[in-house]
Amino acid sequence: MSDPEFVHLHLHTEYSLLDGASHIDELVDQVGKLGMKALAVTDHGNMFGAVAFYDAAIDRGIKPILGCEIYVAPGSRHDKTGSGIEEAYNHMTLLAADEAGYHNLIKLVSIGYTEGFYHRPRIDKEVLASHAKGLIGLSGCLSGEIAQHLRAGQESAALQSIGVLSEIFGRERFFLEVMDHGIEEQRRVNQGLYRLHGRTGLPLVATNDAHYLRREDHQAHDVLLCIGSGKKVHESERLRFDTEEFYVKSPAEMAAVFPDHPEALANTVGIAEQCGFFLKPAGELPAFDVPPGFTTLSYFEKVTRDGYAERLKMLEPLASAGRLRHTLDEYAARLDKEIGVIRRVGFAGYFLIVWDFIRYAREHGVPVGPGRGSAAGSLVAYSLRITDIDPIEQHLIFERFLNEERISPPDIDIDFCENRRGEVIEYVTRKYGRENVAQIITFGTMKAKAVVRDVGRVLDMSYAEVDKIAKMIPFDLKMTLDKALAESPPLQDAYQKDPKVKELIDISRRLEGTTRHASTHAAGVVISPVPLTDLVPLASFKGGAEGVTTQYDMKGVERIGLLKMDFLGLRTLTLIDNCVKMIAAQTGERLEIDLIRTDDPKTYEMFTAGRTSGLFQFESDGMRDILKRFKPDRLEHLTALNALYRPGPMAMIDDVVKRRHGQTKVAYDHPLLEPILSETYGVMVYQEQVMQIASALAGYTLGEADILRKAMGKKKADVMATQKGKFLKGCADRSVNEKKASKIWDYMEQFAGYGFNKSHSAAYAWLAYQTAYLKANYPAYFMAALLTSERANTDKMVQYLGECRAMGIEVLPPDCNQSQMHFSVGNSGGYLSGRHPPAASPTPPPARGEVNPPLAAAPLAIRFGLAAIKNVGEGAVEAILTARSAGGPFKSVFEFCERVDLRAVNRRVVESFIKSGSFDSLEKRRAALMAAIDRAMEAGQKRPSACPTWRTGRRASASPTRRSRSGSSSPAIRSSVTRPSSRSGRMRPSGPWGSSGRRRRPSAAS
Ligand SMILES: [Zn+2]
Ligand SMILES: [Zn+2]
Repeated sequence: MSDPEFVHLHLHTEYSLLDGASHIDELVDQVGKLGMKALAVTDHGNMFGAVAFYDAAIDRGIKPILGCEIYVAPGSRHDKTGSGIEEAYNHMTLLAADEAGYHNLIKLVSIGYTEGFYHRPRIDKEVLASHAKGLIGLSGCLSGEIAQHLRAGQESAALQSIGVLSEIFGRERFFLEVMDHGIEEQRRVNQGLYRLHGRTGLPLVATNDAHYLRREDHQAHDVLLCIGSGKKVHESERLRFDTEEFYVKSPAEMAAVFPDHPEALANTVGIAEQCGFFLKPAGELPAFDVPPGFTTLSYFEKVTRDGYAERLKMLEPLASAGRLRHTLDEYAARLDKEIGVIRRVGFAGYFLIVWDFIRYAREHGVPVGPGRGSAAGSLVAYSLRITDIDPIEQHLIFERFLNEERISPPDIDIDFCENRRGEVIEYVTRKYGRENVAQIITFGTMKAKAVVRDVGRVLDMSYAEVDKIAKMIPFDLKMTLDKALAESPPLQDAYQKDPKVKELIDISRRLEGTTRHASTHAAGVVISPVPLTDLVPLASFKGGAEGVTTQYDMKGVERIGLLKMDFLGLRTLTLIDNCVKMIAAQTGERLEIDLIRTDDPKTYEMFTAGRTSGLFQFESDGMRDILKRFKPDRLEHLTALNALYRPGPMAMIDDVVKRRHGQTKVAYDHPLLEPILSETYGVMVYQEQVMQIASALAGYTLGEADILRKAMGKKKADVMATQKGKFLKGCADRSVNEKKASKIWDYMEQFAGYGFNKSHSAAYAWLAYQTAYLKANYPAYFMAALLTSERANTDKMVQYLGECRAMGIEVLPPDCNQSQMHFSVGNSGGYLSGRHPPAASPTPPPARGEVNPPLAAAPLAIRFGLAAIKNVGEGAVEAILTARSAGGPFKSVFEFCERVDLRAVNRRVVESFIKSGSFDSLEKRRAALMAAIDRAMEAGQKRPSACPTWRTGRRASASPTRRSRSGSSSPAIRSSVTRPSSRSGRMRPSGPWGSSGRRRRPSAAS
């Protein structure tokens, strides 16, 4: 007799989050080992793992069947009133037989999230019926509708359900699912299913509800369930699987479970044979609407050339002044070349899309970064203002970004101000349609340390015990428990000597790397040419239409050919923007940060002195040390140091420093290397240099050189051997000495593992330079913006307040009458209104490429921002500032409590104000103030300011500030005007609160 045949059609992976323990790769390997030729994955309510599973299975010659164990609402998916989880849904197994079935499955799991979410993503029979084409239905586990009727002894109800479902799927595509995990209830239900099979003639199918890979994984799986439900293993009241049979059984084991129903096993193979489709990439980009008379191509070329003409206005004067390293003819030729390549590879529409939303961002004042990644090597991107550094002047290579030899969608990632990134996403969503744009899902996995902590808690070990073990795991983002055992003798020791630790580590190893939770990717956005649910399933973490993400992660989305982009939030952009705005508001100077001079001596002094606290990318102690030794004096130096200062190339820095100062002679193995390597003193630093060397010495096109560069990075031995032959032959053809060619190859190969992308480094160096320029020339403004940007990080605050002291900038304490929402700048030791008198002679706008000389200002000081006070939220500060601007400076703490909206400003805020000294200018006796808070707040609550009618009145007032000053008749103002004030000279009788108004403010206004 031949071996029994069987295919698993009901199976959970780790994407049945904190319920499935099988990793996809291990799962597919195991199924192959057990001799099965097909496999279905049916995670709970989602298809998170579908693409990864599909590709892993195809890779191993196993037929993937995509499915889902879906949740079905007993009534309408819109009915969300059922009292308990049990009443909210049943389980059912769905499999996609063909392409139509796959698309229907995508739609169904999406609807589960966007329409039916109630405890779980649910569909109902209505949508099931309208999306049943191409789907095979299995009646499900013990929680299936039919099984539940049978459990309740309602066989006629079961028969009725069968009638409805077999009508939906068709009689050949609906199966009665039998499972046997050694659970008594299942055996009873199976008897019912066999009877119904006899009565209806509908086929049976046997499945095993596999949640983990092997029998011995059941304990790890049980721990996983506990992690998911927040319980401990010994607790009795918790979700647990009754037996150890929920693993991926072999065909022989399955045959042993169902000895009397061979047809139920054979049907699994029959179903697998019916299934099959090719998951192909969408291959179409979203269309960009072009004006009448244009095609995508012609419009792309027009806006690119228009943009270049704009750039020329700045380049031409530089060229005639001899300040460009290349001629404008070279620029023009490069532009033609890039336009040609982009047109031919079919990405003109892509550039238009990116150009359009970046233009939107700039026009709406959303700060955009100068570039990120290899896109900065493109003159087209520079012309379109997608990037903001000149790739020709900086010697950046277009082919590193895009070339005809390696056609893959260009990867343009963009940095936006982190606070306003959402506005750009919102714009894109509006423009391309809410149905066509979504954010992308991302999955968090259990890393070495975290899994040990989770498992330890579930095993009921004490916090201290687990903490001790977790701390024995060396810190490294790529750390695994196996690596930790090898590298940490104490851990190895504990593992061997203490059985409890051994159990902890063994279970943790089994669960390590398991997907723990899903969330929205911080930056990824996908734009589709058609409604997304035609191509990719959607999820929603809030349930409903809000916060929709794809169910496939970055890789999956790219795999199915969707256009994805990274909209990253970069705090440095927010910092620079705030700083420039503060300068403009207080001095009237409009600083064009993109046009500042690149050779400002003060800025380089800042770098060479290592005074880089708060600067982008150059802040670490190690980097400061290198800056002091290297003494950079141009952007290229910053670009190189930025690329060198990372694990790997770091080892070369000492050598580079010596070469820079002439202590080591710079020599080249071949004269052709000199123009390529001279900017980095003869040392290979950038991937682009590898490409240029291959091109100059061995005649590679830059596109071929990019393939070489990629191969070197990946270190694939066979590819490298072929490339080496090609390189040496190319060198020989150009009569490069063979020995030297071989030596250069070895050097390139050794280096390429950690060579850095110069385009990225240059863009980020430029951003770092901007921060340094601001710090050197506008120190108080920069530090105020920096403190604001880091206000939530206590360690950084302490560091930067120290830096202010070191720079001789006074930081004044928070003050209820002087402080703004955030850190602000004014004259030291005195009054700060937030509005500084404009500079006596307004400075002219800067010429392109030049910038105004910095202010020769009176000593400036920074005033602490109110929102930076602990326990004080922005809402409270807003309420305070509103009251202050409506009624003028506060005169006493008592009066403060009367005027501010006490619903926004609670007791804790007032307390924090006292403790932080924000009332010191009104009353120095903090302890007395603390003692009197309650009284003041009670009194404040009784004031008309708490009356809603008044509130309406205030909101309606167009310009509260002006009105209050001119003595408006608004009740709020009346109440403050009639109050005894400092001007009336009357003191309130009640202790510390009363004397407040008497304090004279050293004020510019007084
Ligand atoms: Zn189930
Ligand atoms: Zn299941």
